[in-house]
Amino acid sequence: MTREQMTAGFVFGGERIPFANRAVGIWRPRQLSDVDGAALSITTSAPRVGVTPRYTDEIRSDGWFSYKYQGADRDNHFNRSLRRAFTERRPLIYFYGLAAGVYEALFPVYVLEDHPETLSVLVAPDVAAQGDLTLLHGGSEVPLKAYVTRAVKQRLHQHKFRELVLGAYRHRCTVCSIGAKDRLVSLLDAAHILADHDERGLPEIPNGLSLCKIHHSAYDLNILGIAPDLRVHIREDILAEVDGPMLQHGIKEMQGRVIRVPGREVHQPRKDFLAERFQQFEAA
Ligand SMILES: [Zn+2]
Repeated sequence: MTREQMTAGFVFGGERIPFANRAVGIWRPRQLSDVDGAALSITTSAPRVGVTPRYTDEIRSDGWFSYKYQGADRDNHFNRSLRRAFTERRPLIYFYGLAAGVYEALFPVYVLEDHPETLSVLVAPDVAAQGDLTLLHGGSEVPLKAYVTRAVKQRLHQHKFRELVLGAYRHRCTVCSIGAKDRLVSLLDAAHILADHDERGLPEIPNGLSLCKIHHSAYDLNILGIAPDLRVHIREDILAEVDGPMLQHGIKEMQGRVIRVPGREVHQPRKDFLAERFQQFEAA
């Protein structure tokens, strides 16, 4: 969701109620104030542009979120409304910042623990609150809480990676430039240069490439390779293939192109990563 959508909110009982308020992290709308009501949402903003994102900030190793009180006064009305959500077991919306002005909405989440000594609460996605349930995953029993929180965490990291990489590449495919029109942006992916199962394959801009769906698949399948000098190579057997216009214009004609990379050096793809990945392409 965008900041604008959060501020625009929804209409209830003929009144417009914002989902969140730009000025505060803990938001309790006026309509919930008179009975010392619980908060409606909590928000964590993305790190500022130019600051290396820290993925472990609010997400603990067990997958729960640690959320800081607003200010140091445990009893100000923000923190009271947050603790009220805890004592009343009220659902909250957690707006988790992915990039400037863009948020993932996690709903519902619950406050599971209150820690006044560290001025924070522990927040977890819904089913995590349900205790010792287990589910079958990959043939073995996994505690539901661990499964759900891992899935949420993964989703957040993926979305964050996409926002960061697409932003750095100005929302265009680095190979064919598609994406300049807003309605085409959903054709773009953030591709990993080194796979995310590689321990160096971090979800960070220098390990990413903004690619359209077809070039992302072609890259992953080693049909298309990108050399460390940023030149595009199409595999020989594919170059010899004859098919329709997509193969001709969309793939074969990309041979020899130089990809467009971000102007800022810290955002450019790492040459050593490209080289390592290109070896896999050449071996294919
Ligand atoms: Zn493309």
